[in-house]
Amino acid sequence: MLALNTKKIESCTVLIVDDDNISRTVISTILSDLCRCVTVSNAQDALQYCEQQRPDLMVIDVNMPEMNGLNLCKSIKHNDDLDEIPLIFITGNVSKESQIQCWESGGNDFVSKPVVAQTLIHRVRNHLLSKLRMDALVDLTFHDSLTGLLNRNYLTQEYPKLSRQLMRNQQRLGVVLFDVDNFKQYNDQYGHLAGDQCLQRVAKILNQHARRSRDAMIRFGGEEFLAILPDTDMQSTRSIARTIVSEVYNANIPHNNTEYDRITLSAGAVSTASFNQDDLDEILEVADVNLYEAKMNGKNRVVCS
Ligand SMILES: [Mg+2]
Repeated sequence: MLALNTKKIESCTVLIVDDDNISRTVISTILSDLCRCVTVSNAQDALQYCEQQRPDLMVIDVNMPEMNGLNLCKSIKHNDDLDEIPLIFITGNVSKESQIQCWESGGNDFVSKPVVAQTLIHRVRNHLLSKLRMDALVDLTFHDSLTGLLNRNYLTQEYPKLSRQLMRNQQRLGVVLFDVDNFKQYNDQYGHLAGDQCLQRVAKILNQHARRSRDAMIRFGGEEFLAILPDTDMQSTRSIARTIVSEVYNANIPHNNTEYDRITLSAGAVSTASFNQDDLDEILEVADVNLYEAKMNGKNRVVCS
């Protein structure tokens, strides 16, 4: 099997949702050797927990007062941010109808009551292993292997969802396209290994400015980087771009015989409230024009519109 660098099962968090105190204790005791367990007694608390911290898996009692397990499952599966969490039902009713309800609400598996400890452990373990492998594959698919930043696949995949969210919330999108100045000469002068290390250092600086969960720093091309800054107005977009440009300047990576005798960035920045839901091309074109102007105006600077 493909050797993937996955998170350890022991460090996974399983959220147990059950209105019965004894049940919660029994289930968390059974699972406590396998992983970290958090318990809540109702669906509302479960949803609240999921908003703040993402559990790796949930074990849900079907029968609960107010919102039952089936409805909790449906609301998790309808949430774009949570729908990947595997859900295992615990049910006292294993009639055909009840089983069908579990599957139709989006559950990934179920365990009947009274719970057989080994069955619960193996089911949870198997679902966690699959999820961890999937997470690791997604991670590889969406990251650039040299710099560790996100890659263009990520952007293509995430942008439609992001733009829908922003339009719904009437928020602006800040986009900054960065280019390492005179990078071809850098490679020619210092070699490709040094070129790679230079890109890694620049990427590290960029990544420190992905401060909010939806901010994304992307390696866009060879020496081109893209900052995607949701809910960011013109002034803040410009300010983040300028900070990054000056931090790269201050990193003082020597690049002799260039304007500043060091590695610098030029940046084209845009903040917009009107964007195409399906592709980013129009915004990128504007950013690219601004970037070109920054280069023409002497590099090591930001042009914003
Ligand atoms: Mg119950």
